Amino acid sequence: MPIWTSHTVLRADGDGAREQLRSVTIAEVDAHFQPVVGSERTYEVDTLLIAVGLNSCDELLVKSQELGLKVYGAGDTAEIAEASAAIFSGRIVGRQIARDLGAVVTIPEDWSTLAAVLRSRPGKVQPLTVAELPLSVHPVIRCVQEIPCDPCEASCPEGLITIGDSIMNLPHYDGVCLGCGECVSVCPGLAINLVFNDYDPSGEHSLLMLPFECSVDTVPPGAEIDTVDMDGEPVGKGRVIALRERPEQDRRVLLLVEVPAADKLKVAGFAIRGPSVPIVTAESELDDDPIVCRCERVPKSAIVEQIRGGVRDLNQLKALARAGMGGCGGKTCTELVRRIFREEGVDLGEVTAGTTRPLVAETPLGAFVRGQEDDRGE
Ligand code: SF4
Ligand code: SF4
Repeated sequence: MPIWTSHTVLRADGDGAREQLRSVTIAEVDAHFQPVVGSERTYEVDTLLIAVGLNSCDELLVKSQELGLKVYGAGDTAEIAEASAAIFSGRIVGRQIARDLGAVVTIPEDWSTLAAVLRSRPGKVQPLTVAELPLSVHPVIRCVQEIPCDPCEASCPEGLITIGDSIMNLPHYDGVCLGCGECVSVCPGLAINLVFNDYDPSGEHSLLMLPFECSVDTVPPGAEIDTVDMDGEPVGKGRVIALRERPEQDRRVLLLVEVPAADKLKVAGFAIRGPSVPIVTAESELDDDPIVCRCERVPKSAIVEQIRGGVRDLNQLKALARAGMGGCGGKTCTELVRRIFREEGVDLGEVTAGTTRPLVAETPLGAFVRGQEDDRGE
């Protein structure tokens, strides 16, 4: 499944009855988040997942710190990072809490270093070389970017995959592979497959073990599939020979796929959707003026109108269009509003940030009793 970074969804089209999503059209965006003309592609889909940005849920933490309270933060409260970073920072903070409560708990010295690595941004992308090995079976590891990941190392019962001292290192394979498939199964990036060189004595075909995360019904044994390389480009055809399900891994299947021997080192996966189709030119059945601020039901057009009228201050925009005025305090829509500024060609450096609503407001008790009437109007 290709991952299109620096792209946006231009439109989503449904069937005439608005009951079912049929296709989405995506396009590459330039440095100003404007769609690049000519880069549009339309795909038939039945599901569109919408994410609205990542904001730390840190209001309570920040306010408590401002008030001088003893507080602890981990995971999304403290940072936006991978789940592994959140889990690890939770372990550290949990131990800190236990220690502050008087328990005798140690926190290994290298944990803070590892936590920093886990929350760091991905490192360099290294060139990939896939070499033919004189073994009956061996893995092909297409792991090219330095990221904090290492389950493949621990998975190999023969210790043939090594990462080294830093979890950011790329894995290195050396030795005689058993063909057990453990490394294929555990790699979260689906970056490892096995090549069985001695599958076909005639040398015409090879057998690959490919990881797959979807319903097994999609690729039953005997199915012919369109194989692709690491960039999602077509390679040729393959035939599913068998599949292995693993009870401990929900919906991850290992497929045994027969491919022409000439393709064995090129194939990294297979396509289960068709190629992009011509852009739908009919009028969209969906709303072209979506609601941006859901609390106050503010449509995009109302925000665009204010931006085109010269508004460059999120507080002013809130007062004029009510975007960000609702119960969530702009938590959801602020990123979308900033995006609309960018779409309108406005440099965000010109835009004054909104004032964060106080998490708490001191209210004297008298405010609840003075001027109140009881049931008798007294
Ligand atoms: S298939 Fe098994 S033996 Fe071979 S490298 Fe992977 S984990 Fe190790
Ligand atoms: S488990 Fe997969 S993604 Fe992680 S380091 Fe190993 S090959 Fe790379």
